[in-house]
Amino acid sequence: MPVDASEALLCWYAVDKRRLPWRAEGGARPDPYRVWLSEIMLQQTTVATVRPYFERFTTRWPTVAALAAAEEGEVMAAWAGLGYYARARNLLACARLVAAEHGGRFPDDEASLRSLPGIGVYSAAAIAAIAFGRRAVPVDGNVERVLSRLYAVKEPLPAARSKIRALADAMIPDPGAGDFAQAMMDLGSAICTPRSPDCGRCPLRAWCAAFAEGDPEGYPIKAPKAARPHRTGTAYWLEHDGKVLLVRRPARGLLGGMLGLPEIEPAAIAWQEAGAVDHVFTHFALTMRLLCAEIEGQPEGRHGETWSPVDRLGDAGLPTLFAKLAARGLAWREKGKAPAPVRQGTIA
Ligand code: SF4
Repeated sequence: MPVDASEALLCWYAVDKRRLPWRAEGGARPDPYRVWLSEIMLQQTTVATVRPYFERFTTRWPTVAALAAAEEGEVMAAWAGLGYYARARNLLACARLVAAEHGGRFPDDEASLRSLPGIGVYSAAAIAAIAFGRRAVPVDGNVERVLSRLYAVKEPLPAARSKIRALADAMIPDPGAGDFAQAMMDLGSAICTPRSPDCGRCPLRAWCAAFAEGDPEGYPIKAPKAARPHRTGTAYWLEHDGKVLLVRRPARGLLGGMLGLPEIEPAAIAWQEAGAVDHVFTHFALTMRLLCAEIEGQPEGRHGETWSPVDRLGDAGLPTLFAKLAARGLAWREKGKAPAPVRQGTIA
């Protein structure tokens, strides 16, 4: 059964695969740099979101050597909006390591790929299979869903992961591992979707146990989730002479290395409320309140601080949380801000 199902999947993929800028056409092997870049960008992000970022990155930095030579600030700004910013720092660290220690060529096996910054188990398997045709099993949420339905896996996730990995491994054709991995990704995203899977068009329907049971949406079975904690915070929009104060965040920690609005009161002045925004990170949800003020007199700059022209804030590369807050700051300004009196006459 697995061999026939794999062949049916590959036949479907040959005709119906998605045309994606990081994929090669006509049976050619794709460029490992483009495969690696797409896999890192696609972690926790959709294809539609990644596509324009991928086009911009590969136009600006067409090779791993070109990316390795880029400034960190440029790469972080180009990444802004894709989220999970540790990925951007690891991306650059990985490019520099490949350029410096591997002669600008990515290693072609899973173990060596996993030793590079930012390449985990899934990405190493995906790059090894797609870029180098290695027999590897990249199992993500899409593949877990397809396989748990195909075999009607009764154990809940995440405990069922090792079983699903073994089921995937048994299906991998050799040669054809790269196409098989991408076919699974495409099937999970286009046909075997979380809700309302399109079983009528599915090449695996003849082998699918969940379809035979009449309950594809009942799979995968999931263990109950712990509630996501909720945190609160305050950010400050401090304006002076058409510019707003931004701070470079510490390299380690949340949104590390990115520019953002200050979260420590930057001046002892009267602040005005400008509402709050909600943002969900992987491990917690955040509600951040925004306080706004305009200050007269040139404040002294401190290390890591920069004054960005308000009308060019779109070029500053703010991550999504701070872009949302900046939109509130701009709305506050539109409503007619009033210069705030300085309580102690100095920046705090
Ligand atoms: S038949 Fe339906 S449930 Fe089964 S793999 Fe195909 S789309 Fe998914």
